[in-house]
Amino acid sequence: MVVIATMEAMSILACLILGILIPEVSTSAGNQWTYRGSLGPDHWHLDYPHCGGVKQSPIDVITDDVIIDIERLTPVVFSGFDVVSSTAEFTLENNGHTVKVTLNDKKNQIKGGGLPGVFVAEQFHFHWGATDSRGSEHSLNGNHFPMEMHVVHYNKKYGNITEAIDKKDGLAVLGFFFEVGRFNRHFDEIIHHFQDIKFKNDNVSIHSIPLVQLMPAKLLQFYRYQGSLTTPPCYESVTWTLFNQTIEIAEEQLEEFRTTIFENDESEGGVSIDISDDFRPVQCMHGRRVYASHSSLKFPKNPPPNNSKIVQENPTSSASIITPSVLVLALLIVTIFRM
Ligand SMILES: [Zn+2]
Repeated sequence: MVVIATMEAMSILACLILGILIPEVSTSAGNQWTYRGSLGPDHWHLDYPHCGGVKQSPIDVITDDVIIDIERLTPVVFSGFDVVSSTAEFTLENNGHTVKVTLNDKKNQIKGGGLPGVFVAEQFHFHWGATDSRGSEHSLNGNHFPMEMHVVHYNKKYGNITEAIDKKDGLAVLGFFFEVGRFNRHFDEIIHHFQDIKFKNDNVSIHSIPLVQLMPAKLLQFYRYQGSLTTPPCYESVTWTLFNQTIEIAEEQLEEFRTTIFENDESEGGVSIDISDDFRPVQCMHGRRVYASHSSLKFPKNPPPNNSKIVQENPTSSASIITPSVLVLALLIVTIFRM
């Protein structure tokens, strides 16, 4: 407990120091950024001042600290998410930072769930890691997932995403975590087009997929907080909804993300650089709180050992009792034969 308290104190201190070091004015208007090196996340605020703000995303959700708010966080109401359209198409694109799917018909809408209005789905995209131990932008008690999907919506009252993107109540992003598991045929409808979008600025039209098929079955349990775009210009315009239930995807499908999608233009030649690890590190809370839609979402970071664990450990204990007995017996036999 002392170690945890010290670590939390250090993280708060780091946030305070960072707040002092980050200049409040921009140095220049930049247009390039990356996830590594001199244009990486630590430098974004120099060209994009909002990235140095106090409501930035992603964050680490500390489950013991969340505030349960069942009255406000009612179920999100989805409309159009189950529609199978024969005419609508998606645009699948490699933008050099991620795989992005733009919804062209704007028929998917969400409301309720404590959201400040009606929001229209514009696009969804992914953040993934080079290995299973990382990739998601948000984390739960410091634990990351191999991939995270963001479904980006704009507030209908602004008419389009360009108008909404820098407004306080402009965007609502739904975040979904992935875990390695069974083959996911719905995502394969996207993945099997990856050969057509290997390089930056490649894009292809694909048949639309009912978004409900891409999401987990249970959507009642979620975390909520106020944050930002996780890429420059980092506007603090996002009402974040992070769902508790994960999406299963096979390891070989994750490998397609890791090995087929490159951040460089085809014409650049030379060695292709894969986009893996396109996630921003977690940001300081600066006093913000995370809310939860269900009481089961609040739990201690390090749960005390329970009885089931003790029961599970029993076979191991008996094995460790047997092993010394066998050794003693062997020694006895050796001793007798020597005599
Ligand atoms: Zn994102």
